[in-house]
Parts: sequence; structure tokens; C-alpha cells
Amino acid sequence: MNDQAQNNIISTKNLSVSFPLGKTFFGPKLFVKAVSNITLDIPRGSFFGLVGESGSGKTTFGRALLKAAPVSNGHVEYHDEEVSYNLNDITKEELKDYRKRMQLIFQDPYAALSPRMTVRDILAEPIELMGLTSSREETDEKVREIAAKCRLNLEHLRRFPHAFSGGQRQRISIARALISNPKFIVADESVAALDVSIQADVLNLLKSMQKEMGLTYLFISHDLSVIAHICDQVAVMYLGQLVETAPTHELFAGPKHPYTKALLSAIPSLDPDDDSKAQRLEGEIPSPASPPPGCKFHTRCPFATDICKKDEPQLDYLSVTHTVACHHWKDLETSNT
Ligand code: SF4
Repeated sequence: MNDQAQNNIISTKNLSVSFPLGKTFFGPKLFVKAVSNITLDIPRGSFFGLVGESGSGKTTFGRALLKAAPVSNGHVEYHDEEVSYNLNDITKEELKDYRKRMQLIFQDPYAALSPRMTVRDILAEPIELMGLTSSREETDEKVREIAAKCRLNLEHLRRFPHAFSGGQRQRISIARALISNPKFIVADESVAALDVSIQADVLNLLKSMQKEMGLTYLFISHDLSVIAHICDQVAVMYLGQLVETAPTHELFAGPKHPYTKALLSAIPSLDPDDDSKAQRLEGEIPSPASPPPGCKFHTRCPFATDICKKDEPQLDYLSVTHTVACHHWKDLETSNT
């Protein structure tokens, strides 16, 4: 393993995830490709954003990293300071250990927490199931510790989830994800269900826990303004594929892919004098069950040409950290479109 690979907590190579759709009468089983040929590195210690419309495959990609979605091709490697795993040939014992190192924070804090358990039991459950403590006292000690870090007080531990607001519930979800001391967190639309006024509070908590616990996040969101606020790198997905990856400031200062440009221009401006026109995305994202040939974005791209309809663009490297998959990004750059 080279030094660069050791700096990445997650590396995927040509990762594809397919789900069976059913069988044709005489023919073979049909599959839908939710994620297609994704090669991506997530540096250790980063707050890595993954953005795209719903149906772009973001959640499936995140689940594949947790080994909770069926990988049909390619592989996922995991490296931290202590262990390295290739998920394709991981043993049962290693998988147990791997799952202690990864956690998922769900979108909906209302559905994620059992209404019949107290907050104390909700927080204690993962460490008890993983066998990380040897007595009730030790478990309670860890519960109190993580609750305090996530700004929950002792009184909260005796209550049931229904007694809390959305923001407080998401803090409970975060505390539950962090209590086992993981290294890598997949946060899937973790603030999407919250009021804007609460979102900043939860994002700040995620950020402060990153510093305190040395975490790496894959932060999945459809909202680029949230990504801009918190992530240091971003990958943009469209219909199961990566179309652009870049450091956040670079992506926002100079997006290259027409889809990224359309997403960025749809962010409302706070400047009343800003009369730049939003580049509106026409139509819906096509179904992954029958994706268009060539560039998957060509059915909605105002710059599509014949080659876009036939040939799939490969990722072009502008630098080690900035890639784009578009046949015409250089021409569009020159014409300043
Ligand atoms: Fe648009 Fe063609 Fe680029 Fe696809 S390859 S984004 S269709 S210009």
C-alpha cells in the first residue's frame, strides 16, 4: 500500500451496485444499476460531501461502504491507523470489527429511534450488542459521557424519544452513532428533516465531534448550501455515476460540469442585486432501470451534442483532487458558459 492510499480511510475502485428487478419470461434476470463504476478516495479526517438529486444513487453508495448493499462489481478498501480491510474478501470476524468502526446517522430522527426505549437504553444498546463494556456501571458511564458531549443532560436519559424536538432527537441519533467510538460516519441527509434554524446546531455538533474524536464523515445531501457550509471536499453524483469531484472552495468558485453548474445556480442568492439567471434543470432524472446511452445527463443538458448521446464521458483529471466527466467541459470553459 502506498502513502497516498494510507491517507484515505475509504477507497473505492469501479464500484457498482445492482438490484434485481425481476425475470423476463424466457430471458435472464433483470437488474437495475443504482451505482455504476465509482472510483473515489475519502481522505482520513475529511468532511466529504456527496451531492445529487434524489435517485442519483448517493444513499446506495453510502450503504455499499457499510457493506449493507450488494456490490456487483469493483471493490471497497478501508484503512485506519490500526487495520486495513478489503470488503470483497472480509471474514465474518473482520466484518464484526469493521462494523464497530463505521456508523450511519439516518435522515429521519423520528423513525430512527425506538419509541419504546428510554434514551439511556437507546444509547446503551449498540455498545452492549458489540460487547464493548463488561458491566452496567461501565455502560452507564459511557452513556453519560457521550450524552454530555452531545449536549444531552442526565434528565434526558430517563425520557422516551417522543418527549424531544427534532433537533434533540437528531442529537440522540448522533450520540448513539458515536458511542462505540467509530472512525467513519455515513451521515445520510442528516439535517434534511430539520428546520433551518436547527440545522446549524446539528451541523456544528457534527463538526465539533469530528475534531474531538478524529472522525471522517461521508456527508450525503441534496442541498449544496449545506455542503458548502461544512464539507471540505465534494463529489457530485448523477444517475449512479460521479460527474465531478473537487475541494469545496474550488467547486463553488469554478464548477466544470453542466450538472454541477445547474445545481449551484439553483441555490437562492441572498444578494437582492444579484440578477444572474438560475440555469434551470429541465425534466426529471431518468429511471436507473432504463438509463440513457452515452452521457447519462444528455437528456437534460443544454450543451449535449451527438457524441454525448453515444459515448460515455470518462473522468478527466484537472488536478489530483478535481475531476470532471464531460466531453465538452473545456469548450464550455473557453466559451464561458
Ligand atoms: Fe452535457 Fe455532453 Fe457534457 Fe454530458 S458530456 S454534460 S451531455 S456536454
